[in-house]
Amino acid sequence: MTRQRPIALVSGGSRGIGRAVVLRLAEAGHDVSFCYRSDGAAAAEVTELVKERGGRAHAQQVDVGDPAAVSAYVRATEELLGPIDAVVTSAGITRDAPTVLLTDAAWREVLHTNLGGTFHVCRAAAFGMVKRRRGAIVTLSSISGVYGHAGQPNYSAAKAGICGFTRALAKEVAGRGVRVNAVAPGFIDTDMTAALPPAALRSATERIPMGRTGRAEEVADLVEFLLSDRASYITAQVFGVDGGLVI
Ligand code: NAP
Repeated sequence: MTRQRPIALVSGGSRGIGRAVVLRLAEAGHDVSFCYRSDGAAAAEVTELVKERGGRAHAQQVDVGDPAAVSAYVRATEELLGPIDAVVTSAGITRDAPTVLLTDAAWREVLHTNLGGTFHVCRAAAFGMVKRRRGAIVTLSSISGVYGHAGQPNYSAAKAGICGFTRALAKEVAGRGVRVNAVAPGFIDTDMTAALPPAALRSATERIPMGRTGRAEEVADLVEFLLSDRASYITAQVFGVDGGLVI
C-alpha cells in the first residue's frame, strides 16, 4: 500500500510554538502525532484542528523527561500512523532565577526536560529514520542558548546544549539521509513569554530591531521549510527567528 501523507511527530504540540508547528505540518500534508505533558483539553482541540486540515492525528500524554515513556510513544506513533518522516522537539519549560539564587531542583528540572527530553525524543525517533535512510529533525533551541540570558542560567545552558547535540547528531546521521537542524527563537507570543514580568517583556521588546515580538506561526513556517525536501542540502545549522534581536 502506498502511503499518501508523510508522518510527523512533535513533542509539546498542544500549545504555543509546537501547536503552530502541528497545524502548519497538517496544512502541508502531514499526518501528525504530538505529545503534551498535562493539558488534555488543549491537545483535544489541536487533534480536531489537524483532522479539519485533512490529516490523521494522534495525541498522547508523555513526559519527555521519561525515556521509557518516550520510546513507548514513538513506537505507538509508528504502529498507529506509520514510519516517522519528520520530528520536532518543542516541549520545553522555564524555571527562571539568577545563578546565585537558582535551586538544584530548578537547574535539574530545566536541563532534564529541555535537553534530556530533546535527546530522548531524537534517540527514539532517529533509530527508524537511520534504518530507512530518510528523515528530518528540527530541535527548538532559543536565543538564550546562543547568547546566554541573564536570569535564565539553567534554560540558557539547556538550550546551548541543544545546539551542540543537534550539530553532533546531524553529523552522525548525515550519511544516512537524515537532516537535523535547530531553530533558536527570540521572544515569541506564547504562554511561556506571557509568564514573564510585564516590565521585562516590555524592555525586551524595545531591544528588538523589528520593534515587536514574534508569532508562533512565524517559527512554524521555518520549521516546516527545514523539514521539507526544499531544505535538502541544509543540516547541522542553528537558525535564529528573533526580529534581529541580539541579547
Ligand atoms: P509553551 O507555550 O509553554 O508550550 C510548551 C509545550 O510543551 C506544551 O504543549 C506543554 O504541554 C509541553 N511540555 C512541557 N513540558 C513537557 C514535558 N515534560 N513533556 C511533554 N510535553 C511538555 O512553550 P512555547 O513558548 O511554545 O515554547 C516551545 C519551545 O520553544 C520550547 O522548547 C521553548 O523553550 C522554545 N522557545 C520559546 C520561545 C518563546 O518566546 N516562546 C523562545 C525561544 C525558545 P502541557 O501544556 O500539557 O504542559
